[in-house]
Amino acid sequence: VKAEGRGASQFYRQEFTHHLNARMNLDDELEKAVNRQEFELFYQPIVPLDATHSIKAEALIRWRHPTRGLVGPFEFINQLEDSGMIVELGRWIIRTACQHATCWPRVHGQAPEVSVNISARQFRFDDLVGTISAALSDSGLPPEKLCIEITEKLLMIDSDATLATIDALKALGVKVAIDDFGIGYSSLSYIRRFQPDNLKIDREFVQGIDTSEYDQRLLAAIIAMGDQLHISITAEGVETGLQRNYLHEHHCGYIQGYFYSKPLAETEFRLWLEHTAPA
Ligand code: C2E
Ligand code: CA
Ligand code: CA
Ligand code: CA
Repeated sequence: VKAEGRGASQFYRQEFTHHLNARMNLDDELEKAVNRQEFELFYQPIVPLDATHSIKAEALIRWRHPTRGLVGPFEFINQLEDSGMIVELGRWIIRTACQHATCWPRVHGQAPEVSVNISARQFRFDDLVGTISAALSDSGLPPEKLCIEITEKLLMIDSDATLATIDALKALGVKVAIDDFGIGYSSLSYIRRFQPDNLKIDREFVQGIDTSEYDQRLLAAIIAMGDQLHISITAEGVETGLQRNYLHEHHCGYIQGYFYSKPLAETEFRLWLEHTAPA
C-alpha cells in the first residue's frame, strides 16, 4: 500500500510538473504573441428586433497562431487573466475596438455600437476610466457607442471599487451590460446596485426554447422585467428561426447568435454591415 501511495504521489507530482510546464510554455507563447501582434478582434453582430434601434457588435478576441491557425479565447483567456497579461492586452482591445467602430458604415442612418468584454483583472489592475476615456477621445467614438460587458462574477468579487468605476464610466456616457446573465450567481441585487443598461441572457436559456416550456416562460419573464426596469435584453446564442421567432414575439430587444452570423474578421464584418444587415 505504501509503495503504491508513493507511486501515486510521484505520479501526481509528475502530472503537476507537467501541468506547470505546460502553463509556463503557454505564458511564454502568449507573451510572444502579444509582442508579435498576433491577436485580432473579431466582431459578432447583435441585431435589434425593433428597427428603431441601432445594430451593435461584440468584439471577441482571436489568436492568429503562426502554425495552428485561428485560436479561440477558451484556449488562452484564463491564462491571460492569471498571468496579468490581460491588463495590457485589454487596453489594446479597448483602443482597437473604439478605432474600428468609428470606421463602420451607418445602417439605416445609425452608427453601430461596439461592445467589449472586460475581465475582473482589468477592473482591479488598470485605470479603466483613464484607459476608456483616452480610447474614446483618441478615436473620436461617442461614449454612448461603447458598451462594456461585465460578468456577475466580477460584480461579486469587488463591489465597492467596481461600483465606483462603473459609476464613473456611466458618467462618461459609456453603457454597461451584464454578460452571461442568469448562470452562476444570484443577480437581482446586482441589478439593483449597478443598474445596467443591458442584460445578456446566456445561451443556456435560449437553447431551452426548443425543449422546455418552462424555459420559454422564464425568458418571457426576464424580458418583462427588463421592460419594467428600462434595461434592454440581448439573447445570446440564438441559432434557429424558432428561437428567433419566440424572442421576437416576446419583444426581446436584441439577438446575437449564429442565426444571424458567427463572429467575423473586421473587414468581413464591415461587408456584413453594408450588404447583409437585416432591414
Ligand atoms: P461571451 O462573452 O459569452 O461571448 C459569446 C461567445 O458565444 C463567443 O465565444 C461567441 O463566438 C459564442 N457564440 C455566439 N453565438 C453563438 C451561437 O449561436 N451558438 C454558439 N454555440 N456559440 C455562440 P468566443 O468568441 O469563443 O468567446 C468565449 C468567451 O471568451 C467569451 O464569452 C468571453 O467571456 C471571452 N472573451 C472573448 N473575447 C474576449 C475579450 O476580448 N476580452 C475578455 N476579457 N474576454 C473575452
Ligand atoms: Ca460577452
Ligand atoms: Ca455572454
Ligand atoms: Ca458565455
